[in-house]
Amino acid sequence: MNPNRHENLHVIFIPYMAPGHMMPMIDMARLFASHGVRSTVITTPANADRFSRTLYRDSLLGNPIFLETVNFPWEESGLPEGCENLISAPTPEITIKLIRAIEKLQPKIESLVHQINPNCIVSDVLYPWSVDVAEKLQIPRIAFSGSCFFSDCVSKCIKKYRPHQGIESESEEFVVPNLPHDVALTRSQLPDILKKKTDFTELFERLRQAEEKSFGVLINSFYDLEPAYADYFRKDLEVRSWNVGPLSLHNMEVDDKAERGDTASIDAQSCLTWLDSMEPSSVLYVCFGSLTRFSMSQIIEMASALEDSGHPFIWVIGKLLKSEENDSRGDEWWLPQGFEEKIRDSSKGLIIRGWAPQVLILEHQAIGGFLTHCGWNSILEGVCGGVPFITWPMFAEQFYNEKLVTQVLRIGVCVGNLQWKVWATEEGPVIDRAKIREAVSRVMGEAAESEEMRKKAKELRDLARKAVGEGGSSYKDFKALIEEIKSYTVRSRHCQK
Ligand code: UDP
Repeated sequence: MNPNRHENLHVIFIPYMAPGHMMPMIDMARLFASHGVRSTVITTPANADRFSRTLYRDSLLGNPIFLETVNFPWEESGLPEGCENLISAPTPEITIKLIRAIEKLQPKIESLVHQINPNCIVSDVLYPWSVDVAEKLQIPRIAFSGSCFFSDCVSKCIKKYRPHQGIESESEEFVVPNLPHDVALTRSQLPDILKKKTDFTELFERLRQAEEKSFGVLINSFYDLEPAYADYFRKDLEVRSWNVGPLSLHNMEVDDKAERGDTASIDAQSCLTWLDSMEPSSVLYVCFGSLTRFSMSQIIEMASALEDSGHPFIWVIGKLLKSEENDSRGDEWWLPQGFEEKIRDSSKGLIIRGWAPQVLILEHQAIGGFLTHCGWNSILEGVCGGVPFITWPMFAEQFYNEKLVTQVLRIGVCVGNLQWKVWATEEGPVIDRAKIREAVSRVMGEAAESEEMRKKAKELRDLARKAVGEGGSSYKDFKALIEEIKSYTVRSRHCQK
């Protein structure tokens, strides 16, 4: 028998219903299965549609990967049909309803887990109840947050030392105490939850308690990207953790890359043909993840800056914030009139409405920069592509990730957003075209600063690949994790006797 197979081990994966959480967890389930661990993903039907073909291809290769679904209560929750993922929520009100509906899935998933009777649960941190399920079954619960060591360290230190409390102005910079580097932030860049009681205050307290009771935390990152923070997380903050990333690198086949997360809205081959026709490192890739919404005024500024930048670009258009005005037009992916035709006719760029095959694009040698909202998956995928960044964080822990890129790794420049805000409304601040153009030219240009960032980005790309290869830091941590789950299983069987 192959000593690297672990058929007696059965791990279940419970991803949260948002692409940035679900996609890396699916990559992780596939990684476990590729090592012979029986791996079952639990989700809902509409979410399963986003990755079932990929799992099916893996199963044809003989990997023990399985999918179980529980029905989503969208009807009784007053949600539109098929609205089972945060990407489908068009307004803040529907997002809140959706989050509450996801909470209602707990009993169904719990009963399924009991039926499956696995050896381990890998759960998104946003399901704090999974720690109690694991306790009942006497198995380990491993938490997955989808973020990196750096942002988890920043977040924990801000909560512990509350450096923003003595600062009156929203725009004055302060340094987060006790971190390995001087990391400067402003109050305006902090999540609401740190500054006032919100609808989610209680949930976040439950998440913290569940993380403490967990067997450990899985981090989608690699040691050489943020060594000081991996050490700080483990030694100073005393969180048991394994770095297993970049998980996206386990998508090796073109089909897996092209369909990762959903069916792409553009034919992968035609996208690659367009990129093949471009000079190396000449194209700017613009994408703001799966949840960001912009105002019309902001899109106008962005369109003008991209057109005038003089660099070819791929722009995955952010969805427009849904309002009564644009609802009547039914135009989710709005662009200024005539812009798309102008860009197409001049071959200046490629516009993608909907889902882009991001990993496939970022790996192409024609990509020279990435204008991003700083979601952790996007940052890591950009690092794997060896490209520098123009950072435009919006909410969640995106401002922390920006600091890692610009202040610690120094592989990117900020576009200058200072305002943490989930939904970019017309009343919110607009980043003007001049600022966007300037940041683009600092990253895409020929200056020494740009060259230096490109060089560093390529070095990190090589380190990322090394980390997941046999003997690399992520490979070793993954192997160690499997052994720890196995010995936990043996110990708990022993105790039951
Ligand atoms: N993504 C993609 N195509 C798109 C938009 C997003 O493949 O058109 C993927 C992207 O590659 C990343 C994920 O969706 O893996 C987004 O996660 P991230 O953490 O970057 O941001 P979030 O969407 O959670 O804000």
